[in-house]
Amino acid sequence: MSKEKRLYTFLFAPTSTSRMKKLTIPRYLIRGGIGVLLLIVVGGIYGAVRLMNVESLNLKYQSAKIENDKLKRDNDVYKNSYSKLKGQISFIEDVSKDLARQANMEHVSEIDQKVGSGGPETVTALDKAADQLEQQVRLIGDRLRADHLRLTSIPAGFPVDGYITDGFGMRRNPMGGGSHEFHDGIDLAVDFGTPVGATADGLVVWAAPYSGYGNLVAVFHSNGITTRYGHLSRITVEPGQRIKRGEQIGYAGSTGRSTGPHVHYEIRLNDQPIDPSKYGRRQKP
Ligand SMILES: [Zn+2]
Repeated sequence: MSKEKRLYTFLFAPTSTSRMKKLTIPRYLIRGGIGVLLLIVVGGIYGAVRLMNVESLNLKYQSAKIENDKLKRDNDVYKNSYSKLKGQISFIEDVSKDLARQANMEHVSEIDQKVGSGGPETVTALDKAADQLEQQVRLIGDRLRADHLRLTSIPAGFPVDGYITDGFGMRRNPMGGGSHEFHDGIDLAVDFGTPVGATADGLVVWAAPYSGYGNLVAVFHSNGITTRYGHLSRITVEPGQRIKRGEQIGYAGSTGRSTGPHVHYEIRLNDQPIDPSKYGRRQKP
């Protein structure tokens, strides 16, 4: 190859009026220059891509770290709540056991999973224990309510603080004459106008005059028991009214077949009169 062919000649004028200038550059320099330019461009692109990758990895790492920190915090919160819940359930377990003993229901307090020391370590087990505990507390509650209802529905004490002038059973006719009759309650002598209270929780089923009873209040309790309060001067309850033991139903008087102020008190079991003195205070000495 001739020397001419290995050279590039550039003609150029620095200004429009100046003379043309000639620049001769060997071809290998041009080629080298292009090669170097290409290297720079390719290297630049490669570098940029690498940089972007590193940057994106860094971002991913940061977000993963944030996520991980959050999970750690959540886990701590969860652990604390779990311990607290476990303590609370353990406390309820103890109280429930105590109540079960009082209600004579020890058997229901035996649950599969004890929450106390060495108790369940998983949420599922704790959940199961809580379910059993709930069931247990319900059963005990039902029993205690039933017991309470039974106890408060059984007549206790007397409707007034008087002394028994006439007991339950056969007696001489109080209105005079020599005949005998069956007295199906007790007579409690008190001052006129003494407040009269029901002897058990129940439902008022009668509150009006009724033949020889005069002004009568009858209260239905449970298990077929009713109580009657006769000869009242005034009635202060109405039929259909629910009343508690000791709640006033009226005032003592002498209405109906009576010779003086007193309360005729009667207890009936399945409509058969029974002796009230067996369910209340004995006659004062
Ligand atoms: Zn009587």
